[in-house]
Amino acid sequence: MSKYLEERVTHVHHWTDTLFSFRTTRDPSFRFRNGEFTMIGIEVEGKPLVRAYSVVSANYDEELEFFSIKVQDGPLTSKLQHLKVGDPILVGKKPTGTLVLDNLLPGENLYLLGTGTGLAPFMSIIKDPETYERFKKVVLVHGCRQVAELAYGDTITEALPKDELLGEMISEGLVYYPTVTREPFRNTGRITDLMRSGKLFEDVGLPLMSTERDRFMLCGSPEMIRDTRELLIEGGYIEGNHGEAGHFVIEKAFVEK
Ligand SMILES: Cc1cc2nc3c(=O)[nH]c(=O)nc-3n(C[C@H](O)[C@H](O)[C@H](O)COP(=O)(O)OP(=O)(O)OC[C@H]3O[C@@H](n4cnc5c(N)ncnc54)[C@H](O)[C@@H]3O)c2cc1C
Repeated sequence: MSKYLEERVTHVHHWTDTLFSFRTTRDPSFRFRNGEFTMIGIEVEGKPLVRAYSVVSANYDEELEFFSIKVQDGPLTSKLQHLKVGDPILVGKKPTGTLVLDNLLPGENLYLLGTGTGLAPFMSIIKDPETYERFKKVVLVHGCRQVAELAYGDTITEALPKDELLGEMISEGLVYYPTVTREPFRNTGRITDLMRSGKLFEDVGLPLMSTERDRFMLCGSPEMIRDTRELLIEGGYIEGNHGEAGHFVIEKAFVEK
């Protein structure tokens, strides 16, 4: 039996010349926990060419959504960036991942720290009502080089607060903090620097980080993960995993080859 479901592309949106999103049909048998990733791709010369992708949509959504980089010489994304509505797409039947609420100890504030396409799993988590049942405040930090790369900003600030079911929870519970490193913007600087200096906490109106109160999910480049993990471990935070909840959990948004 195939490891993949064959879905169809229903919508494509290009954010920049290096970033795009797309939606696909969803087989009712495809179940996942918000924050997980699965293997997706296309068939090339009769064989599946697949890569890990976080699911952007929430587990109750009718369709699946993904947020992708375009690597010009990347085996998959050099092709995937030309996807059109109606094209077939392979979706792995076994989603998995560590960025799930159950891997975190109870706390007051949840910080979702993502760089680049590392925002993807957090889009799913901020649409999960359970996130707001478990945490008083959810702070979504998205770090990019340029303002144009801050994808989904309007969805987060305009569409979600108006959502019939989630709107109230999101308006009260979610704080969105976009930051860029390579051009002027209302918030600038790397996530680790903003944490070390305390500026992030000051800007979002919350107390300086503490192991008792704060929980973190990280998804970004291997470098961002390394630096932020180091900072948290220095502060006495314990990494969580399947079977053992902790103060923080991590997922690399991609691996360097
Ligand atoms: C757990 C996990 C979840 C992932 N989720 C996503 C996702 O939601 N969206 C997504 O676009 N990618 C995601 N990736 C990366 C993805 O699996 C592929 O690497 C990416 O689609 C590029 O595939 P490729 O075959 O074109 O190039 P690859 O040969 O896979 O990558 C070539 C090089 O491109 C760079 N690169 C790859 N992916 C990225 C990225 N996302 N951002 C910046 N640089 C990158 C790296 O330097 C890499 O060495 C994830 C990876 C992991 C491990």
